[in-house]
Amino acid sequence: MRIFFCPECGGYSLGPASHCDECQFPLPEDSWAEVSEEELTQLEYIDDFELPPGLPSFEYDVIRLKSTDDDDAVRYSNQVLNRMGESGWELVSIVPLAGEDHPNFAVFKRSWISEYEE
Ligand SMILES: [Zn+2]
Repeated sequence: MRIFFCPECGGYSLGPASHCDECQFPLPEDSWAEVSEEELTQLEYIDDFELPPGLPSFEYDVIRLKSTDDDDAVRYSNQVLNRMGESGWELVSIVPLAGEDHPNFAVFKRSWISEYEE
């Protein structure tokens, strides 16, 4: 099944959907993923977690890297990594997809202390 992700509140809605179930924000047409029943169950399970007071929360972002083996790829990667670093994102992993022709994905993380502390 297809689920749509909301760039506004970070929630997701079951497709077909034009607006976010949570905040009614119009969903971008390309902001979706094909997921299995099991993956959806996992998302719902995670939704029930609550952030304990005083703990930092983490935000993650996954960026597709250029897969070619040349100087362009190096320059592109340099640009991506430095831009992300300047915005507080730390590279935590490079995830290769199955098959040599597929691009790698860079996983970035940044953290902040929640407002609970104030
Ligand atoms: Zn939303």
